Amino acid sequence: MKYSKSIETVIRTDVLVIGGGSAGFGSAVASARNGAKTLLIEKGELMGGMATAGLVGPFMTCYDDEPKEQIVKGIFDELCLRTEARGGAIHPSKVNGMTTYSSYYVKSHCHVTPFLSEILAVVMEEMVLEAGAKILYNVQVCDVLTNEGTITGVVVAMKEGLAVIEAKTYIDCTGDADVAYYAGAACVKGDEKDGVMQPTSLFFEVGGIDREKFVGALEEKKAQGELGIPGENCWSWYIEEARKNGDWTLERNEVGNYEQPIEGRWKINTTRMAHIDATNTEDITKAIIDGRKQVLQVLNFLRKYVPGCEKIQLIQIATTLGVRETRHIVGQYKLTAQDIMERKHFDDAICTFAYAIDIHNSEGGGATFHQVNGYYTIPFRCLVPADIENLLVAGRCISGTSEAAASYRVIPCCIATGQAAGTAAALALKTGTKPGDVDKAQLRETLLSQGAVIKE
Ligand SMILES: Cc1cc2nc3c(=O)[nH]c(=O)nc-3n(C[C@H](O)[C@H](O)[C@H](O)COP(=O)(O)OP(=O)(O)OC[C@H]3O[C@@H](n4cnc5c(N)ncnc54)[C@H](O)[C@@H]3O)c2cc1C
Repeated sequence: MKYSKSIETVIRTDVLVIGGGSAGFGSAVASARNGAKTLLIEKGELMGGMATAGLVGPFMTCYDDEPKEQIVKGIFDELCLRTEARGGAIHPSKVNGMTTYSSYYVKSHCHVTPFLSEILAVVMEEMVLEAGAKILYNVQVCDVLTNEGTITGVVVAMKEGLAVIEAKTYIDCTGDADVAYYAGAACVKGDEKDGVMQPTSLFFEVGGIDREKFVGALEEKKAQGELGIPGENCWSWYIEEARKNGDWTLERNEVGNYEQPIEGRWKINTTRMAHIDATNTEDITKAIIDGRKQVLQVLNFLRKYVPGCEKIQLIQIATTLGVRETRHIVGQYKLTAQDIMERKHFDDAICTFAYAIDIHNSEGGGATFHQVNGYYTIPFRCLVPADIENLLVAGRCISGTSEAAASYRVIPCCIATGQAAGTAAALALKTGTKPGDVDKAQLRETLLSQGAVIKE
């Protein structure tokens, strides 16, 4: 069907950040702090994306793999400290692996950051506004206007109807690379070989746990050496029995349970909806409906089988499907698992990270978990699409293989790539260059002077 209409509303800014998740938060704060007139648009009505609407948490580790040293700082660390000051987080330096905050996992689960989604959303909002950026909620990009490889505007759906937003530089923080894709940039969905994407999940939160009984049972298993490996063994000994009794039909064989920084509130990560393409509306709908059914089954399981959970109550189910992977842009450089494991040196490195390559199997219940070799860095070129001039990308959809994304997709790294993209966008405006052509030494110097960690 052909549809033609004049769009009356045109909004103008210098830097447009699309998506208010972790990456969009980092991008908007950095861009505005570095002097660019910045607008952040978000299709929902709160900051945080997966971390708030998706109830995902805690922030996975921001330390190296030993773990010895905190290697993600800058805007990420400010967020942790400010959220902690509001009673909404525990700083990662105070949190160990094999505890209730890390679901009794140890690999890549030392120095996680437990946080309350509601407080996080408020603190993120405050920091974006304080930096001088503007936020508009309820604004969804539904098309992109281009001219010879340059974006000339994005078409957005707002409460008032359609509008166009024109900017000098655009930062795609949609998680799904929507802007890059609508602009015609090359993207790869999931694994390059077979298109398989990691399964989706729906988080939920419970209260009313008898902590003494619950933690006592976990401590007993810990003493027997039966805990610690993500993807394998938390409460799995009851799941076997429940499966036999017809009380467990889920694919996963564990219940990830993360205590919150507020008494009596726990996040549960265990549902799994595989073979879902979360850029497809039918699939998203199917997954979220299935996810809600799985939540009720997990609740019944916990009440019936797990010590201390006899009287648990559902507090909330995430209102957004938990999406681990969809599109990856094809950027000027594609980060690989080999780069990560071999700790490849990049002259244009913009952040350091160390979370494991954590692949949730799309068949069956398990996960594959490869620890990294200390830490690795991400080059700026992964944020620059190969074929669009005035676009940068941050967050889980930057340029990398599916395996590499299985590490850098977690929240601290999304904030760090956001900080780099926002800083580069502002520097490009100051120096009159294309965002992908900013002076890399100047970009790195600016990032370092603003608290980021870039290890050699
Ligand atoms: C089930 C699950 C468990 C996870 N567990 C952890 C964990 O324990 N710890 C951890 O650190 N990480 C975890 N992760 C990974 C992490 O949560 C995400 O990868 C990360 O939050 C992605 O951040 P982002 O900013 O790239 O994307 P998102 O958080 O998805 O943000 C994208 C934002 O863009 C908005 N948006 C999308 N499209 C448009 C559009 N067209 N127009 C306007 N706005 C748009 C969305 O509404 C959203 O707010 C998990 C992920 C999942 C799915």
